[in-house]
Amino acid sequence: MEKIIDNKLESEYNKLVESESILPIKITDFYKKKVQEEISKIGIGGPLYKSVIPTQEKISIKTSVETRDYVEENKHMPIEGVDYIIRKYEDRLVFIITDICFSHCQYCFRTYNLSKLQKSNLKETIYNKIEVLKKYLKQHNEVKEVIFSGGDPLSIGYENMSYALEELKDWNIRIHTRAIVYEPKVFDDKTILKFNC
Ligand code: SF4
Repeated sequence: MEKIIDNKLESEYNKLVESESILPIKITDFYKKKVQEEISKIGIGGPLYKSVIPTQEKISIKTSVETRDYVEENKHMPIEGVDYIIRKYEDRLVFIITDICFSHCQYCFRTYNLSKLQKSNLKETIYNKIEVLKKYLKQHNEVKEVIFSGGDPLSIGYENMSYALEELKDWNIRIHTRAIVYEPKVFDDKTILKFNC
């Protein structure tokens, strides 16, 4: 597939991935084709392009007030040592069911945390995470909704998702996903039937 990122820009960005611990560039073949279609119509730098490829400004401009956790998720992790349960509101919480995404968005506000998790990914399996979550939920009846996030929850595969939905069937589940944009083939008949979407 034709290259859609300038070599120099890519190399500069890769250095930042190492030094700043941010997510590397990752783009599905499906989305790459969409970006190429966009480039053929309007050239480099359209909205599809900028969603997944860094700009020179992003790489070179740094201000004194930048912060890594700018939505303050780290302050809202209610269980010590558990970085996949985030609770900012009384009646719902975010469950980072996986740290893997189909593609990496340049605007991701979890880039630092996800790149950290990816290095220690195997420490917690999805099943173990669900056990920890269920224990917490049973002690906190005020939580009515669990938001599956990540990473992309739909990247965990049909069997894992079925297990998660079954285990957590007593709570409302919301799924945050970018799969419809990056990898729509996951919405096959089997998935749609199970998820009732
Ligand atoms: S899919 Fe979500 S978690 Fe993954 S990089 Fe994009 S915004 Fe971040």
